[in-house]
This record gives sequence, structure tokens and C-alpha cells, in this order.
Amino acid sequence: MAFLTLDHVRGRKAEGHSTSFSGDKLWRHLRKKYHPPGYQVLCWNCNVLKYRNEPVDHSSKYSAMWARSNNIKLKNKVLTHYSDGIIACKCCGFNDILALGLDHISGKKTHGHSKRMTSSRLYSNLIKEKLPPGYQVFCYNCNGAKGRNPKCPHEMN
Ligand SMILES: [Zn+2]
Ligand SMILES: [Zn+2]
Repeated sequence: MAFLTLDHVRGRKAEGHSTSFSGDKLWRHLRKKYHPPGYQVLCWNCNVLKYRNEPVDHSSKYSAMWARSNNIKLKNKVLTHYSDGIIACKCCGFNDILALGLDHISGKKTHGHSKRMTSSRLYSNLIKEKLPPGYQVFCYNCNGAKGRNPKCPHEMN
């Protein structure tokens, strides 16, 4: 259960749900509607990877595309640094960069990072700060599980 999330089979847009419509809000909505079809349970990693092959939105402006490719470059650089060369989840070894991110080892609050600190902002901040210690590479499964439990279930074994 710690690694599972609800996926919109036809995509969020088809259901008219914004990205903030998730988690508890979504669960409550589905309970009210008596669990309508169109949803499936996926683990976090699969949920992210599912959208990687989605067609690129052609209406997106050049600047948005540039920001995106720049973000991938930043992410690569930062994750390589925090994973000793081979980019993989420190906890379970998952190695698809799309489902990997940074984990604040001692929690976001100790770093003074709010929930609004996006990953791209975090990466560029870290590069500006010359990549300080205190972070590790985690996949979305382990990161999400750690966020809701004191530790990732992998570590409790
Ligand atoms: Zn992992
Ligand atoms: Zn784990």
C-alpha cells in the first residue's frame, strides 16, 4: 500500500481533474461517486513512467520547451552528484531517471524548504550552492513511502 497511488486510466484531463486534485481529495470524491470506473492502482514509479510517452503538447511555447530540456540537464547533473556516478535509487536501486528525485535526508523542514519548492527550483538552487551534502537520490516509490511513514518500508526489513 505504501507504494501505491491512483491513476486516471484516460489521463487527468479526460476527467477534468487538475493536478492539485489528488490524494485525499480524489479518494473522497471517488467514494462519494461510489467508485466509478476509469481508475487503476499503480505504484508511483509506474505512474510517472506512464506519462513519459505522452505526445508533447505542440501549443507549448519555445520557452517552456527550453525550460524543460534545461531542467533535464540540471537534474542529470545534480542526481549524478548525489548518487556517486551511477544514477539509481539509494534505497531500492530503481534506475530510471524519470522516476527519480532528490530526498532531503533529514526532512524538508531542516533545509527550510516549503512544499512549494519545486524540483527544478531545488536543482538550480543546489547548483548555485555548489551541491551541499544532505541529499540522496530516491525513486518516487521510496520518497513517497518515506513521506508518509517514518522510513521507507524497504529500510524496515
Ligand atoms: Zn526506490
Ligand atoms: Zn525503498
